Amino acid sequence: MTVRSRWSEEEAARFIARYGPEWGEPLALRTYSTRLLGEDPDLVLHGGGNSSVKVTTSNLFGDEISVIYVKASGADMATVEPAELPGLDLDYLRRLRVLRELDDAEMVHQLRTHLLRADGRTPSIEALVHAFLPGVYIDHTHADAVLALTNREHGVAVAKEALGEDVIVLPYVTPGFKLALAAARALDDHPDAWGMVWAHHGIVTWGETAHESYEMMIRLVSRAEQWIEAGGTETGGQPASVRIAATVTSEVEARLESRAAQVAPMLRGLLAEQTGDCDRPYRRVVLQWRAGPETLAALAAPAAPETFVSPVLTTDHLIRTKAEPLWVDELPPGDSDAARAQLQAAVQGYCERYESYLERHGSAVPAGVQPFGPQPRVVMIQGLGVFCAGPDLRDAQIASDITEHTMEVKASIAAGGAKYQGLPEEELFRMEYRTLQHAKLGRTMEGGAGSAHAPLRGHVAVVTGAAGAIGTGITEGLLEAGGLVAATDLPGEPLDTLVREMEARFPQRIVGLPLDVTDPRSVSAAFDRLARMWGGVDLVIPNAGVAAVAPLTELTLERYRELERVNVEGTLLVLAEAARMFRRQATGGDIVLVSTKNVFSPGANFGAYSSTKAAAHQLARIASLELAADDVRVNMVAPDAVFACGACRSGLWAEVGPDRMKARGLDEVGLEAYYQDRNLLKVQVTAAHVARAVLFFATRQTPTTGATIPVDGGLPDSTPR
Ligand code: ZN
Repeated sequence: MTVRSRWSEEEAARFIARYGPEWGEPLALRTYSTRLLGEDPDLVLHGGGNSSVKVTTSNLFGDEISVIYVKASGADMATVEPAELPGLDLDYLRRLRVLRELDDAEMVHQLRTHLLRADGRTPSIEALVHAFLPGVYIDHTHADAVLALTNREHGVAVAKEALGEDVIVLPYVTPGFKLALAAARALDDHPDAWGMVWAHHGIVTWGETAHESYEMMIRLVSRAEQWIEAGGTETGGQPASVRIAATVTSEVEARLESRAAQVAPMLRGLLAEQTGDCDRPYRRVVLQWRAGPETLAALAAPAAPETFVSPVLTTDHLIRTKAEPLWVDELPPGDSDAARAQLQAAVQGYCERYESYLERHGSAVPAGVQPFGPQPRVVMIQGLGVFCAGPDLRDAQIASDITEHTMEVKASIAAGGAKYQGLPEEELFRMEYRTLQHAKLGRTMEGGAGSAHAPLRGHVAVVTGAAGAIGTGITEGLLEAGGLVAATDLPGEPLDTLVREMEARFPQRIVGLPLDVTDPRSVSAAFDRLARMWGGVDLVIPNAGVAAVAPLTELTLERYRELERVNVEGTLLVLAEAARMFRRQATGGDIVLVSTKNVFSPGANFGAYSSTKAAAHQLARIASLELAADDVRVNMVAPDAVFACGACRSGLWAEVGPDRMKARGLDEVGLEAYYQDRNLLKVQVTAAHVARAVLFFATRQTPTTGATIPVDGGLPDSTPR
């Protein structure tokens, strides 16, 4: 926790040059300093905090009107654009101050009906605070250091003492209209104050200019930090800066990593919520594992459970982390039954506590708000680190960032010898289930990977041979369906290119893993890495394959074995590793093998390929028998020749094509036309077609296992029988 001013006149001038002509100088500067605040995680985390500016402008009739631009609800301060600062009729909003009460729904109506533009975003829940306070520029953050002052016994008094007489410190007030009234009244009573702190919530500063308001924020937060660094005046406890002095050696790190790879899938399975849908019985979560030296040292402290199992710092964290984390004592070694049992009992206990919390306050859940599942979102495992869960990767990352900051604040309070104090349960529940908060969550799920068009949201997929033509098409299809994808292949330029291109289109949703399917260590290392990175695996597409052209009389045993190793042993190793992972998670899984039409209709001079692919196909059918009891479905897709996916030419066809061209007296174009012409539908089979067949199984459209979809335009000889 060390904030400092990052204001730069040159940067401010750049914002004026960029945004001024369209939006005016005040909004350009408002955008600049909002981002400065949002970029500092000690001040603002993921959508917390907001800002405003008041201007005078004229309407179509030339009448002078007062306008306030307030950050939109859910917009991120770090990346805010002027369009995310909707304008509102300031004079009207100020009249609302005479009301005694204004509920959330009515408040939103009042705000939305007094927007300057019909398409304006809904302003922040704290818009009325900004309207009622007189400052031209107003900044509001949830700074860690300020929360470290207020979230403790006698927090208001401590904050007053630390920050001085010229700063207003308000006890906690529910955000919204009530808080706007309380803040305005407090400033009326102390007109000389230059800053305001809200217990269990955050801090507000203001100024005539964007720069002034920003510097006030930095000054006030720095005051809080200095007081904490000095160990406070309460007890003379050890300064916060010396409380962590741990290092992690590489040996310890390797042990931790292998342990996390065992534990993460078990935990991920336990955190999946049951849906009651027999085809898709679990709502999966993505996990983030954090185990930096500070985190491990904090968890090792004797008082760690008392310190960290306590309520959130501010109520906007509730929808991300729930009110409290789950604490788990050090687990027995290995992925033994004992470890699973301990983990299961801990999660079960949390679920029961959450269910009864829901029961105690159930009448306060507003209509239209779906209760969260009872599983914890933050799990602290002594000796192993912190695992945070979310319905998708972004949510899990947000929960992790919030948790790291929360731990730092709580540790600093404990280091000063004080006792952390959160809000009472009733208020926590009310805020966890507040419609406005859930609307924020809904917005983050719109479009992108969260919408109904993202059936694989929260799913982790592995594709082998991803850099080939079919692999590229499948990778793209899985990403479009909202999955997180590990694209695996031999290391090299083709894999790097695929990952680079997909990363540009689907940021943070793809990882490239070098993988040799013929090497058991390489296969298990890739699955372990995914367990640590995202928590586990749900969907495996064994697709890696090689081909060779030779009549049996000329096929050397050496060449045959090369194909056998990739096509058969590679499939076996991937199937077996997938099965182990699925069993650890205990939430089922899907495997879709990329087979070939040659399994059903082999080609002359293609013995090594046809027979080894037939063995792989048979292994997948065996897997469908062995894994059905674990709700793992294993199916196959059997494409005819796919020559390319975009610019990615098929490596397999580079091998096979020249011979086939020679045999049929055709050139490359002619060969593609030949394959198109030989099927009933006269279509060219593409990688996108194969991807769609994979998605049919991967999204569990029918209760099917051990089956094959031909993707060949209709080849009666190779229709599975
Ligand atoms: Zn706030």
